[in-house]
Order: sequence, then structure tokens, then C-alpha cells
Amino acid sequence: MKFNELQLSEEVLRAIEDMGFTETTEIQAKSIPMIKSGIDIIGKSNTGTGKTAAFGIPAIESISYEKKGVEVLILCPTRELAMQACDEIKKFSKYMGWVKPCAVYGGASMDRQILELKRGANLVVGTPGRVMDHMRRRTLKLDNLKMIILDEADEMLNMGFREDIECILQDIPEERQTIMFSATMPPAILAITNQYQNNPQMIKIEQKYRTVDTIEQYYFDVPSGMKIEAMQYLLLAYEPKASMIFCNTKKMVDELTDALTSKGFKAAGLHGDMKQAQRSFVMDKFKSGKINILIATDVAARGIDVSGVDVVFNYDLPQDNEYYIHRIGRTGRAGKSGTAYTLISNRKQVYELRSLSKYIKAEIIEKELPERSEIVNNKILKLVSKVSAASEQPLREEAEIILSILNKEGYSAEEIAGILINMRLSKELRNIPEFELPKVKKSVPKSSGSKLTKDKAAKIEISAGKLNRIAPNFILGALVEATGMQGRSFGKIEIFDKYSTVEVPEADLEYILDVMDNTKVNGKRVSVKLCERRGSDKQSSRHSSGGGRRSEHSRRKNLGGSKGFKRKRK
Ligand code: ADP
Ligand code: MG
Repeated sequence: MKFNELQLSEEVLRAIEDMGFTETTEIQAKSIPMIKSGIDIIGKSNTGTGKTAAFGIPAIESISYEKKGVEVLILCPTRELAMQACDEIKKFSKYMGWVKPCAVYGGASMDRQILELKRGANLVVGTPGRVMDHMRRRTLKLDNLKMIILDEADEMLNMGFREDIECILQDIPEERQTIMFSATMPPAILAITNQYQNNPQMIKIEQKYRTVDTIEQYYFDVPSGMKIEAMQYLLLAYEPKASMIFCNTKKMVDELTDALTSKGFKAAGLHGDMKQAQRSFVMDKFKSGKINILIATDVAARGIDVSGVDVVFNYDLPQDNEYYIHRIGRTGRAGKSGTAYTLISNRKQVYELRSLSKYIKAEIIEKELPERSEIVNNKILKLVSKVSAASEQPLREEAEIILSILNKEGYSAEEIAGILINMRLSKELRNIPEFELPKVKKSVPKSSGSKLTKDKAAKIEISAGKLNRIAPNFILGALVEATGMQGRSFGKIEIFDKYSTVEVPEADLEYILDVMDNTKVNGKRVSVKLCERRGSDKQSSRHSSGGGRRSEHSRRKNLGGSKGFKRKRK
């Protein structure tokens, strides 16, 4: 659906156009009309689906011209999210002088926020704690509030904001619209819905697995610091007709664009700091084939639909699994096949890729970078096949010159061909960087974790227990989330006062220890260690430093250092 089908004000449409949006996302198409109609809604949708606009656009459209104090309140879990949402809303409302957004969050000057509130803010985006603060001080008055939006409600509850949120909900006018967005729907969310929403409509966007099946996916393990060279190798070796390269930051986009253009590649960068006109210029060049390599951030590339992209490169591993699907979805469109290559450069990323592979239910196979000699040979072969495919006969004069060289200089025909090839390719060959890479083959399995059997179980200890108000389902949830494995892969979960234990499949032990360490369980950051090893794994107990119990130290040592790790894993 297009934004201009949504009966939005001209000011909003103009602002949306400036931002480069044309098509709505699914959640936007559904929520915007419903919120505008005045009903309460509860929306469930993954990150990166454009929820800020889904509630932000109808929110600014609801604000009256007259000064009526704060009419819309948006609660977000963190200071960053509040700032980000407020910035985005400012962009949507840039042609609406009467809309005055203001962000309030902890860790920043109270006075500045008070001043901004006093200057007639009518849309406030804030974290629950700071909003409560301002309410208590009467620097934030909500008597005229018409709409409250809880963004990432589940996350706010995880962070312990339940009381604050309920306090706020009780304090604001009953005649109001209550909008809630949440990625998950735990009972606590439903309780809030029941108590504080009025006959809410549920909007649920089912997660789709896009046609990643038609896309061949590979990854390369490249020493960090050599990724730019590796990228050049790949472009030279595969010679894609049109490719997109994704980076995680604008800075990286600029760096890589400079590096590749200076080596003669027809590349251009695309990111959010560029003006709309500049972005259109780049897109036009890419679509018309004047450049064939587009280097972009996720945000800049969102919604870009170019046919004929045959290869997508993930120069950086995306921060979010959904981004990966978005990215590689740029190739393999309309039933065509495509290829996606991902560069990774440390051991942690091997794990991340493994859980990504489980998430998308597809195999991502390790490939070795082509060797320099392969690239050179390919280039020569191409040139030779061009020569032999050429239908025209050499002209008489050319033939005569060649004969004279053969006779006079004493060169053989092979030597002359060699010299010509060299001259023809020398510039291209000079641009092939030299470097050697360590080579190990492995593939990321798509199985969803090993099965748990009695004799193949290991027990891990997680540093959170009853005293942290941990229940088994929190632990299981965190395990499933962090590992991408299925719940039934895990065995008995026991909760003690200060720690908990879980039975996990022996085969995935190292992986689980690694990805779980330092994650959060019910809001608490935990450390995780091996607690006991059962079964007949004599090999490993011989290596362990304390009978059946491997110490923290020995585990670290074992997993540390990417070389050791690679050799161990097969
Ligand atoms: P969520 O809150 O669901 O995680 P955001 O609202 O933060 O998602 O949006 C993610 C990104 O997508 C933002 O950079 C936003 O500007 C962009 N975006 C949102 N809607 C659209 C759209 N219809 N077209 C193009 N980009 C969009
Ligand atoms: Mg959001």
C-alpha cells in the first residue's frame, strides 16, 4: 500500500516523501487507519517493521491546532529508543508547526526538559521513570491527554517498569485512546490490556520467511583487517553483474566506497546522511547500470527494489536476523536465483551465523576465498575465450605485422600472445591485492540443536536463581532466544537460591556456554559455566582440571583463540 492511499494530511505526506518512503510496511498499513479511527489497539510485530511511523503518524495527525497541553504520550523502554522515536516523529511533523514533540528520559538534564515542556510541548516521548518524575513535579501535566502509546511494552515490563506504567495509566484521563505495541504477548501484557485498554483490536503481523530458499548462501571467514581486500577478491573473482554490499555503519559505507572506487570498481555508497536528491542520483545510476556495485546501510536500502541484483554481500554481519533476510532478499527476486556472501571475522560471529542459520532455516556454507592465481587464470581464460569467439579474421595488415615480429624479433606466436595478454590485463592484475589466508572448511548446520539424551547431557549453571525471582520458563526463554535452538533441546531446569542449572545437549555445550554468557535472564545479566559432565566423555574429563568439573579458566582457554577453536570444531 502507498502512503497516499491512507488519507493523511498533506503536511505528513510531504514529510514522508522527503524521507524517501513510498510504500507502507504491513503494520503501518493496518495500524494507521485503525488508530485514526480512534479505537484501542494492540500490535504485535517484529523490530524493523516501521512501528514508529505506524503510531507516530496517526499520533501527530491527532494533535489540535489550539494549545491544549500534552495530548500524546509515548512510552519507550530506553533513552535511546525514546530519542530515536522522537527524532523520527520530528521528521514526520516537520511541516506541522503546531506539533511540538519533546523527549524526556533519565540521565539528562531535568531543567532542559522542563524548559522544553513549558514551551508548549504537546507530544511527549519518554521513558516511564522520567515521565513519572515529571508528573510528580507537576512539570508534566497530562489532564488533556488524548492518546497514550506503549512502544515495546514487553521490553518495558522486562526492565521492571510495570509499576510506573500502571501508575501513569491510572493517572491519565479515562477518556483516551490506548495503543500498545509488543513483540511478545506474555500474561503480564495481557493483564495490562485487560485492565487499561478499551475493547482493543489485535493487529498481528506474522513473520514471513521470504524466498530465501532460492538464494545460495555462503560465508567467508576473513581475518579482521583484511575485509576490504577480501571484498575486492570476491568482486574480481565472481564479477557480479549487479551487486549490493551491506555495511552496518555509514562510516563503513564511505570507507568501502572510497576503497573500491579507487581500485577502479564502479561502485557508489548510499546512506542516511545523504540528501534525498543525492540518493536518487545514486539509485538512478545503479538502476541504469552506470554503476554496478551499490554499498549501503540497512536503513538506506530499505524499500529499495532493483531487479537484476545477482549477488548480495554482507560486508558486516547484520545486527538483526530480520535484516539479513531483508538484505539477501534483494537478490533472487521473482523466482530468479541469487547468491549471498557474508564476511565474518571472528569466532563470535561463527556462533551468530549459526544461530542466524537456524533462525532462517537455511544452510550457510563456508567457502574459501578464491586464490589470487585463480582470479588471474579466470581473467586470462575469459580473454582467450573472447579471442576464439571473435568471428572476424585478422586484417591483412595486422597479419603482416605479426609475421614480421615473428621473423625479425625471433618471438614465438605463444610469446606474442602472452605479451599482448599481459599488456591487456596488467592494470586489472595490479589491482588484485596480495594476501594469504588460513583455510579451514566448515559449514553451519541448519539442524535445530542436538537432541537431549540421558548419556549425552551436560549440565550448565546460570548465575541467577530464586533470589533473582527467576522461574524455569525465564531460563528456557533465554536459552531459546540466545541459541536459536528449540525448547525441547533442553532438559531439566532446577532453580536454587543464587543459581540455576539446566541440562543441555553435550554436542552443543560449547556453543551454548558461549552465547549464553553475559546474556540477560529476566533482566539480570548472568554468567554461565559448565557444572558437571555426565556420560562417558573420557576425552574431555582428562583435559578438565577438576575431575568431572571443568573450571571457568579451562573453559575460557579452550574456547579462546580462534585457531584452537577452528581446529577443534569439525
Ligand atoms: P520498529 O520500531 O518496528 O523496529 P522503526 O520504526 O524503528 O521500526 O523503523 C525501522 C526503519 O525503517 C527506520 O529507519 C525507518 O525510518 C524505516 N522505515 C519505516 N517505515 C518505512 C517505510 N514505509 N519505507 C521505508 N522505510 C521505512
Ligand atoms: Mg521501534
